Amino acid sequence: MNFKTGYLEELMQRVIARNRGEVEFHQAVREVLESIEPVLIKNPRYIGKGIVESLVEPERVIKFRVPWVDDMGRIQVNRGFRVQFSSAIGPYKGGLRFHPSVYEGIVKFLGFEQIFKNSLTGLPIGGAKGGSDFDPKGKSEGEVMRFCQSFMTELSKHIGSNTDIPAGDIGVGVREIGFLFGQYKRIRNGFTGVLTGKGLNYGGSLVRTEATGYGLCYFTEEMLKERGESFCGKRVSISGSGNVAIYAAQKAIELGAKVITMSDSDGFIYDEEGIDLELVKRIKEIRRGRILEYADMCTDAVYVPDCCKIWEVPCDIALPCATQNEINKHSAELLVSNGCFAVAEGANMPSDPDAIEYFLSNGVLFGPAKAANAGGVATSALEMTQNSMRYSWNFEKVDAMLKDIMVNIYQSSSRAAAEYGMKGNLVAGANIAGFIKVADAMLSHGVV
Ligand code: NDP
Repeated sequence: MNFKTGYLEELMQRVIARNRGEVEFHQAVREVLESIEPVLIKNPRYIGKGIVESLVEPERVIKFRVPWVDDMGRIQVNRGFRVQFSSAIGPYKGGLRFHPSVYEGIVKFLGFEQIFKNSLTGLPIGGAKGGSDFDPKGKSEGEVMRFCQSFMTELSKHIGSNTDIPAGDIGVGVREIGFLFGQYKRIRNGFTGVLTGKGLNYGGSLVRTEATGYGLCYFTEEMLKERGESFCGKRVSISGSGNVAIYAAQKAIELGAKVITMSDSDGFIYDEEGIDLELVKRIKEIRRGRILEYADMCTDAVYVPDCCKIWEVPCDIALPCATQNEINKHSAELLVSNGCFAVAEGANMPSDPDAIEYFLSNGVLFGPAKAANAGGVATSALEMTQNSMRYSWNFEKVDAMLKDIMVNIYQSSSRAAAEYGMKGNLVAGANIAGFIKVADAMLSHGVV
């Protein structure tokens, strides 16, 4: 799609020139700019006050060396990042990703998306993201701990419970958060809620582990209701087998669906009888094993050693929960021709722009990541609230608040889309609703 205004085309070209080679960031910015174009035309003061120019430039980018010693006594050096994108509506908030593919462009794309996602939750949190090209896979517990301690030694200078509150993402779960928190507490000599996704015995919130996956299903339920549909009796295809995928599967099954696929970066399993989630949890959460092992233990299941082929399996609902750009136009065509009528994104930006276009123009119900996977960060904000109160809410209370937030996100995205003449287009709706709150806060703050 091309921009109607020269202003946005020029701005997009500037973003590309100033952030060379950062293709994921360009993709994320383009999508938002395309969506908010009608808002800018209707409210030219956002242009006059340079709001969009400011918004596409991170407030701060921190890049640092992370040296650590492996089990053989060798020195290893990784790169650490924290992109503090926007603090217009609250302290910086967003996860940390440890994966070999991490570089500045990935962290910027995730941080940029986080601004709008966090705004959509209705809670006072700004946007940020961080991470490292460190790969926790295959590392010993001691190596992961030494890496996390080194990473936090530098990061601790830039974060704080009122400044920037990181959380987990790919490769950063409760184990890594524990090591990071321990080192922060030791360096700063203070017990504060500086990270979310903490263990329950030292300030974590109930439901945080389940939140992104559960929230994804609560959002999807609302979307399905729009067509008089539900999860009940549907075949659901899920990619990934990490935190988001596992708890999306758990909630979808609870709501009456049959989950038939799960994957990791090596391949996927297909179980027509419905995946045995307890077995997946034993393999992935307890043994930190590979999804291939499921097919060894469960003879009904088929293992395909190519994770990209997962979208060839016929399903009613697809929940991509692994990583960015895992669905291209070809996969989208296959999904639709095999009967898939709803797609909701658990991962960040898992569908590429052509795939999204294909879904939207073929009447598929489509829940974009910014809205559909915001349950994780929303519950993180609830963890921050509990830490500030020095109190813990029970599971039912946090779960009910999460559900409420997801229903609100669906409604505000849907309303914004309709208001700007794009009824049913939740991509545009989520971007518009997320943008307006942040942009208005920026207008109030003046040029800062
Ligand atoms: P995990 O590390 O727990 O799991 C990631 C899963 O995705 C693993 O199964 C992993 O397989 C697979 N995966 C990772 N990279 C690739 C790749 N390049 N190709 C294929 N599969 C891949 O991460 P999460 O579940 O926490 O995160 C998954 C997605 O959800 C990410 O996009 C993340 O940004 C997003 N998200 C997470 C939130 C959270 O609360 N955790 C909140 C909002 C969004 P393997 O083990 O082989 O690497």
